[in-house]
This record gives sequence, structure tokens and C-alpha cells, in this order.
Amino acid sequence: MLFFGALLRTVNAYAAPSATEDLVPTTIERRDVGPKDVEIEIAYAGICHSDIHTVRGDWGPQHYPLTVGHEIVGVVTEVGAEVSKHKVGDRVGVGCMVNSCRECENCKAGEEQYCLKGNTGTYGAKDRDGSITQGGYSTHVVVDEDFVLRVPESISYESAAPLLCAGITTYSPLAHWNAGPGKKVAVVGMGGLGHMAVKIAHAMGAEVTVLSQTLSKKEDGLKFGADHYYATNDEQTFKDLRNTFDLIINTVSAPIDLNSYFKLLTLDGTFVSVGAPGEPLPVTVFTLFSNRRSFAGSTIGGIRETQEMLDFCAEHGIEPETELIEANQINDAYERVLKSDVRYRFVIDAKTFA
Ligand code: NAP
Ligand code: ZN
Ligand code: ZN
Repeated sequence: MLFFGALLRTVNAYAAPSATEDLVPTTIERRDVGPKDVEIEIAYAGICHSDIHTVRGDWGPQHYPLTVGHEIVGVVTEVGAEVSKHKVGDRVGVGCMVNSCRECENCKAGEEQYCLKGNTGTYGAKDRDGSITQGGYSTHVVVDEDFVLRVPESISYESAAPLLCAGITTYSPLAHWNAGPGKKVAVVGMGGLGHMAVKIAHAMGAEVTVLSQTLSKKEDGLKFGADHYYATNDEQTFKDLRNTFDLIINTVSAPIDLNSYFKLLTLDGTFVSVGAPGEPLPVTVFTLFSNRRSFAGSTIGGIRETQEMLDFCAEHGIEPETELIEANQINDAYERVLKSDVRYRFVIDAKTFA
């Protein structure tokens, strides 16, 4: 690593120059380690579909060049004078946010992801010094210790990264809506988030059904803990499963016909979208009237809950299914994610950013 000026460190990274260009190797600047900061040498960074939505402008204009990546694991290489939670050599993770106001009622309740002033995203957000945050497709990152997680030793280093977004984003609604014994849970879309939802819901004791576009991943789904597996390109699926589920977790990255999925909910059932296509989707309230159904959204999870999820996964032996790539394969990996050709999360070896 090179030191640049008095307060910045220049590190290797990959960045998108614009919404329409491939990611390219570059350097970015990290702030110097402040009293409450931890410097992490990144080992692995996962590729989330949100990285793709963001760099391609699906969610609105961005500041370019932009380095994305919010599924980060690595080793602590330096700590500030006041750091108490982490020490040099610790195996740690960073997820989708790196700060929040810490004062609003949601932050005080440990739900920093719902900070009323807006949490500071790991990339593409305005940081406290006014700069734009840059994500984990790089060799090092400097983060306030309160937003750094402990990665349990029993979770393999290479596959831990996706837990920091795909893991917590599915764990949080499953826990909030009480997935567990006696509950029928459906997971729509079995990609990065979806396959984690299947594993976690199964470990929580729920009866799990996968609703995938085709049956091509059925064998995998059953291996991950699903009890049933249906294809959504078969109209019969929507007839057979009417009024069935207590909870549906929608992880689909593209627009779907929500109303046909609402009909699959039983009395007081809830359909939760974590999938985040950019465009608005029509909702027919009459479909929600039947069975007093609810339509909800959920985003990532608080820091306390993220640690709880990591510990839960360690305890239950849950690990993401990953495909390890080098930095120069990121653009090809994006194309495969867009074609639903991911088994089930790409993880970048951060050594290859160097
Ligand atoms: P992913 O790995 O690409 O998985 C998405 C899955 O959706 C695909 O594997 C596919 O599953 C299904 N799908 C894709 N296109 C579809 C279409 N046109 N019609 C029906 N199904 C389709 O993506 P991911 O990383 O899991 O992320 C999924 C979504 O969640 C993205 O929109 C992402 O931005 C969002 N997200 C939200 C949060 C949050 O905090 N709320 C956090 C992370 C990600 P099958 O092949 O099984 O059909
Ligand atoms: Zn993500
Ligand atoms: Zn707040």
C-alpha cells in the first residue's frame, strides 16, 4: 500500500467509470485510521446483484468512478487508539453500511439500517467527511469499529463474505416474521439471496418451498433444505399453491406479477420483498383484502442482528455456495448474474486487485 499525502491511503481497486462501461482496475483513496477506525486487509468480496443495479444506474444516478462491493471479509491490520472491539489479526466482516446517526430512535433500537437520517452505505454514499464511500472491490478498507463484525472461525474464510449482505438480508425478515416450526415459507428466486433464505429458513425449522423460474436447480434446492420446489413458468404452480404460505420472501431482481404471488398467502400471510428492481410494480388491493394479506419490504439488518446471523450460521453450519473468481472476471460474472446463471454467489479473491 502507498501512503498519499498526510491523511489518505491509496489502494488498488476495481471501479465502474460510468453506468455503461465495464469495471476496470484503478486506485482509490481510503482515509487514514482515526481513533475509532479499523483498517482491514480485504481477503474476499462477494458480488451482490445490488452492485450491478447500482453501477448500471438502475436505482438512479451515481458518482463515478464508483467501486462497489458490500460483502467484505478480511483481517484487521491496524486499529485506532480508542478501538476496543477489534484487534490486529482478527477475522472480520463489513456489510452494506459503514455508519449511521446513532441518535435517532431507530439507531437506538439497534436498527441502524433504518436510520431516520439515512444510514451511510458502504459504497456510493456521502461519508462524514463529505467524500463518496467506496466499496469492497479493493485491497483495503477503513471502517468505524462499530460497523465491523466478527466472523466466527468455524465459517470458512472463502465463503463467509456473502453472509454480510445475502445472509443478513434474508435472516432479518425470516426472524422478524417468525419463520420456524409450523410455518410454511416460500422463497421466490434462488440466486444469491434466495439460496441463503432456503438454508436459513430450513435451519429455523420452517417448511420451505422454492418458487424458481424453472426446475433446473431443484436438486440443489432440496439439498439446501427445501421441502418442495416449484417452477413459476408453469401456471399450474399458482393454482396448486393458492392460500398456502404464511410468509413469502421475494428475492427476485426483476419485476414480477406481485398479485399472482399474493394469492399464495394464507390467512394473515405476509409477502416480503427484499428483491429491488428499479421500476414501480402494480399492486391490486383486492388481492390483499382476501385472507387479510400483508405486503412488506425489508432491507439488510442492524449490526447486532448481523452478528446474531453470523453466530446462527456458525452454530447451524450454514455457509453460502460460492464460486471464486479473480478481479479480471468481474464483468463476465455480472453477465452471468444477469442471466440467472449463478451458483450461487460469486466471490472475488481480493489478492487479485493488487
Ligand atoms: P441474484 O443472485 O441475481 O438472484 C436473483 C434471482 O431472481 C435469480 O437467481 C432468479 O432466480 C430470479 N430472477 C431473475 N430474473 C428474474 C425474472 N425476470 N423473473 C423471475 N425471476 C427472476 O440476485 P441477488 O444478489 O440474490 O439479489 C436479488 C435482489 O435483491 C436484487 O434486486 C438485489 O438488489 C436485491 N437486494 C436487496 C437487498 C435489501 O436490503 N433489500 C439486499 C441485497 C440484495 P431463479 O433462477 O431461481 O428463478
Ligand atoms: Zn447486497
Ligand atoms: Zn439514526
